[in-house]
Amino acid sequence: MAESAVDTIQGLIRDIPDYPEPGIVFKDITPLLGDPNGLIATVEAMASPWADLGVEAVVGIEARGFILGAPIALALGAGFVPMRKAGKLPAPTASASYGLEYGVDTIEVHLDAISAGTRTLVIDDVLATGGTAAAAASLIDDVDGDLVGFGFLIELSFLDGRRNIDQYPIEAVMTVDG
Ligand code: AMP
Repeated sequence: MAESAVDTIQGLIRDIPDYPEPGIVFKDITPLLGDPNGLIATVEAMASPWADLGVEAVVGIEARGFILGAPIALALGAGFVPMRKAGKLPAPTASASYGLEYGVDTIEVHLDAISAGTRTLVIDDVLATGGTAAAAASLIDDVDGDLVGFGFLIELSFLDGRRNIDQYPIEAVMTVDG
């Protein structure tokens, strides 16, 4: 990808210190989503590594993975599948729980959304500890999907989240190392 596209994207992501709690630097992508050039550059940058890999389903993780995942699915000629917090999906689901710093979270996917062997790409905005991504991988495994890889906009490499999903291809548009 052209250096200037990454610069455009990077320049439209802002750091919000101490949100949602002290010590966390939140990567706010709303300025990027609101910028026409930034939005197109983001979708192109996140879709292009997977263009020739026969992706059939793009899973977006609630909530920012929905916003990015749907246009990436369109760009790849794939369908879109929401992966949601517990209790939000109306039909029968598979669910996976994962540990947070304090407590446990659960994500779910419709049992009939991904068939056995469906070539599936998982999209989210940020790879932090990798707990969410690992839970997503186990859900796709539960329904016998074929997990092609993970696409993130931002990888917080200092948290080494990729160690939790390192058996799969991982792409990130930008890496933050501290
Ligand atoms: P994790 O399971 O720790 O990899 O966290 C990933 C999820 O939390 C993603 O869905 C992100 O949207 C969100 N997240 C974690 N850390 C941040 C951060 N510093 N800025 C924005 N979102 C974050």
